[in-house]
Amino acid sequence: MSFDYDLFVIGGGSGGVRAARVAAADGVKVALAEEDRYGGTCVIRGCVPKKLMVFASEYSGMVDDARAYGWDFQAGDFDWSSFKTKLHAELDRLEGVYRNILASNGVETFDQRARMVDAHTVELADGSKKTAKHILLAMGGRPVMPDLPGAELGITSNEIFHLDKLPEDILIIGGGYIACEFAGIMHGLGVKTTQYYRGAQILRGFDDETRGLVCEEMCQRGIDVHLGTNILEMCKEGDKIWVKATNGDERLFDQVMFATGRRPNTDNMGLEDVGVAMGRKGEVTVDDYSQTGVPSIFAVGDVTDRVNLTPVAIREGMAFVETVFRGNPTKVDHELIPTAIFTQPEIGTVGLGEEEAAEQEPIEVYATSFKPMQQSFAGRAERVLMKLVVSKATRKVLGCHIVAPGAGEMIQLAGVAVKMGATKEDFDRTVAVHPTMSEEIVTMKAPVRST
Ligand code: NDP
Repeated sequence: MSFDYDLFVIGGGSGGVRAARVAAADGVKVALAEEDRYGGTCVIRGCVPKKLMVFASEYSGMVDDARAYGWDFQAGDFDWSSFKTKLHAELDRLEGVYRNILASNGVETFDQRARMVDAHTVELADGSKKTAKHILLAMGGRPVMPDLPGAELGITSNEIFHLDKLPEDILIIGGGYIACEFAGIMHGLGVKTTQYYRGAQILRGFDDETRGLVCEEMCQRGIDVHLGTNILEMCKEGDKIWVKATNGDERLFDQVMFATGRRPNTDNMGLEDVGVAMGRKGEVTVDDYSQTGVPSIFAVGDVTDRVNLTPVAIREGMAFVETVFRGNPTKVDHELIPTAIFTQPEIGTVGLGEEEAAEQEPIEVYATSFKPMQQSFAGRAERVLMKLVVSKATRKVLGCHIVAPGAGEMIQLAGVAVKMGATKEDFDRTVAVHPTMSEEIVTMKAPVRST
């Protein structure tokens, strides 16, 4: 049977674009459909604009620090509109880069929605049908809002980059990556920021001491974090949004942002009809090789809801190409993934948290928390944390957790050691780089806890 293409990719985000261009560079005949903008969540409405907003928000604190170092700086106002114009110009540039990468590798692109018709056929929004030997689902995910009265008045991370003006105050709902990162961003940009999280501590799933310190530091900086608190209802009141919370508070906010999780983009894709199985959240079910139950259909990235991170989607895309087009079946390694959370202060983490590790085996915990030189000199009270979770039996570092400015940069490098199976003694025999914050990671002598 002959097909229009060897590979048809649905979705032009990190995973889809990587798979498409690498396969095409190998001489595979590839097409890709994207209904929105090329680059996907990461480039258009996620990591990239978020990080640029983190940078923008950090300058507010730098003026006071610079003055403490002797500079005669005066704080001025933040001009959202000029930043936003520049931000979107940068996103346009990056989208262009993505489009060029596809074009220059010979991938045919369709700027429209595609849905599945059968195991080898997709239908585009214009009604045309395309056949392919293999189909890769890479549609990503989208934010979800809880079902409560007035929820439609709120925004999500999709809209936050497009505000006409910055609100005077904002309520952020949720305690995950997105909620905590945007609480820091908004506060840094001068917006009075309140955060409601329904659980006992933000950032569920991460090391407890790490979560505790970040929450403390967020409060210390002036973010009004309410734990054990959720939103009940909201409605319009003049120019403001009236919000009733589970703690009995009734308050008015300019803006309410929901960061209450994300869902895979699998609605109305025809997947059920074709026999592709999906889980409870609508995620495409795949095996270790990213293959669905329909042999010609694979899926990578957030649409599979495995580890929802850009570099993971890229690796899944690469492994798919190895497996299907290079005759080299390759599983994606989802173990020991280093990651950063761009809260203020930042978190860098790899491996198991203390609580998770202690459930598995006897451990030793090495940790130190201190005021870093640069900020301390400037009169800031903020503390950083360096922490290693070590197996008593093998001496391997099971987890490394850092809360500090630049923790994301640090954990990338510590992640190499942890991935290689470094022991505590390997860390110990590495000479400290002085004077740095990260030197503490190789100078911790005695465990603070042992289980
Ligand atoms: P998360 O799943 O991390 O967090 C969702 C938050 O919303 C949780 O605190 C959850 O509470 C809460 N929540 C869920 N439903 C409700 C509800 N009905 N009412 C109130 N609160 C609710 O999702 P995010 O949207 O923050 O991020 C999605 C994913 O994107 C992350 O898991 C991550 O993989 C990725 N990401 C990565 C980043 C990075 O690498 N720096 C940055 C941003 C996103 P509870 O804990 O109680 O369930």
